[in-house]
Amino acid sequence: MNDHFDTADVPASAALFARASKVTPGGVNSPVRAFRSVGGTPRFMVSGTGPYIIDADGKQYVDLVGSWGPMILGHSHPDVIEAVRAAVGRGLSFGTPGVGEVALCEEIVSRVAPVEQVRLVSSGTEATMSAIRLARGFTGRSKIVKFAGCYHGHVDALLASAGSGVATFALPDSAGVTASTTAEVIVLPYNDVEAVQAAFDAEPGRIAAIITEASAANMGVVPPHRGFNAALARIAHADGALLITDEVMTGFRLSRSGMFGLDGEIEGWAPDLMTFGKVIGGGLPVGAFGGRADIMGLLAPLGPVYQAGTLSGNPISTAAGLANLIGCTDAVYRHLDETASTVGDLASEALAAAGVPHRLQRAGNLFSLFFAADEVHNYDQARLQDTTAFAAFFHSMLDSGVYLPPSAYEAWFVSAAHDEAAISRIADALPAAARAAATAAGV
Ligand SMILES: *Cc1c(COP(=O)(O)O)cnc(C)c1O
Repeated sequence: MNDHFDTADVPASAALFARASKVTPGGVNSPVRAFRSVGGTPRFMVSGTGPYIIDADGKQYVDLVGSWGPMILGHSHPDVIEAVRAAVGRGLSFGTPGVGEVALCEEIVSRVAPVEQVRLVSSGTEATMSAIRLARGFTGRSKIVKFAGCYHGHVDALLASAGSGVATFALPDSAGVTASTTAEVIVLPYNDVEAVQAAFDAEPGRIAAIITEASAANMGVVPPHRGFNAALARIAHADGALLITDEVMTGFRLSRSGMFGLDGEIEGWAPDLMTFGKVIGGGLPVGAFGGRADIMGLLAPLGPVYQAGTLSGNPISTAAGLANLIGCTDAVYRHLDETASTVGDLASEALAAAGVPHRLQRAGNLFSLFFAADEVHNYDQARLQDTTAFAAFFHSMLDSGVYLPPSAYEAWFVSAAHDEAAISRIADALPAAARAAATAAGV
């Protein structure tokens, strides 16, 4: 697929990819990076500044991935780099409590009302894994409800009908996840309140928690219907179960308090536990889970639910994360909203002009384009899109110096650093990409 644009144009990346493929499966340390669903040679990046990244061949791109979310202020933001430099000068890790982690936890608690207490981990996967264990420990129940197309990291139990790379490669599940693990997980269609009610009616008193992305954004962006998350809270609580909203991607990105600030804060409901990652690490490995103090109090050393991490609360990661969060001011959120709106509209207009059927879907400043005629409310609908048209669109944009997520199932990420110049480069690249998509789609 799409071998039209390949090794000759990017000799340094091609050479690195050949070396990487010998020592690492597929040449990558996380699957979507490998370009398998769009074809061609993955670009090996060497540096980034503001909205731009530069690959090993010296080619510059406007970056619309932003490390999948953390680079909300743009690459190499001076405040974040300076915080990291200062922290590095004091030593890398102590395996004791430290100053930075207290400040990061205080910042998180101050921004998100349902989070009375929080614990730091090193990835989003760890956060959701720990939140589920805690929910089971708190309720004494074993079943978990999740939604098809929602991605919660690569926790065994949560890989059932997951989004992100699992969606990109159309894997039903992962090999190596045992039937006894997934037997505890009830997978339901997203945005389907009746299915959730029916699941609770069928298993009263046996479901520990519902876990949901606060807005689905790993099957492309599929916002929750108005009142959907509120209904999840109501149904879970009526049965004594917990609601876990996964804000690893949306947390501190969609607003000061993430998706919760656009939903629960306004509609008057709250999750019991929440999970975070990406933005709170500023580009370094950090995750977190938090929520009601009575639930968090069951964690070791206070309670019987064990959870730990050698590098949890690491001083460099927490310094980067705190600087990143402090940089996320109201003005930054306004800029993100405006930029996302502009870029989304530009892309949609270009596709419309080329006659390519598509849907622009948004959740706050996260958006994606489905190469499909109909609006998408769930994973079954998401999978109806034309990924061949997306691949052609992607490669044309890449050729023109715009780095989109290399999958039709991922959100596009803008940053505080995406300025007029970066936006006009995107605008210039779009018409040719839309025509390429039209040709691939046969319209
Ligand atoms: C990225 C993501 C995760 C996993 O985080 P990692 O740091 O990659 O382990 C979990 N949930 C959601 C919603 C995500 O977007």
